[in-house]
Amino acid sequence: MRNIFVVQEHLARRLHYDLRLEVEGVLRSWALPKGPSLDPSVRRLAVAVEPHPLEYAHFEGVIPQGEYGAGTVIVWDRGTYIPEGAGTARASLEEGKLTFTLLGRKLRGSWVIVRIREQRWLLIKRHDRYSSAKDITSLAPRSVISGRLLSDVSAP
Ligand code: MN
Repeated sequence: MRNIFVVQEHLARRLHYDLRLEVEGVLRSWALPKGPSLDPSVRRLAVAVEPHPLEYAHFEGVIPQGEYGAGTVIVWDRGTYIPEGAGTARASLEEGKLTFTLLGRKLRGSWVIVRIREQRWLLIKRHDRYSSAKDITSLAPRSVISGRLLSDVSAP
């Protein structure tokens, strides 16, 4: 079964990336202070945040001051993902480890997200033909839907 995924680059109080995976009708979400890495030796912190509605996967623009996440957002990558393994994505997340394949424009191949404690998870690229030492967030900074840089989105 294929579900959508999105990674939004989000300049709020701090710059970060939000990984969102469609799980049973909502977008399960993690904030990544450093964004994803294609290097399997790199573990990126992913802090679980509130699930978002599915419609949010298309959001790019300005979140007004005073609202949750106030700042600017671009859709840095999106596509579909396939959970790997026997259980459902939700069950795997409840157990604290989900392996999945991304079919995005920038992020592809096999990944794993593992809970280390409470809201803190690690996102790690698994070894495959898509793993690489290249710095994908620097090399491919633009929105996949508009071609804009985050700095092209007008500040609130
Ligand atoms: Mn965010």
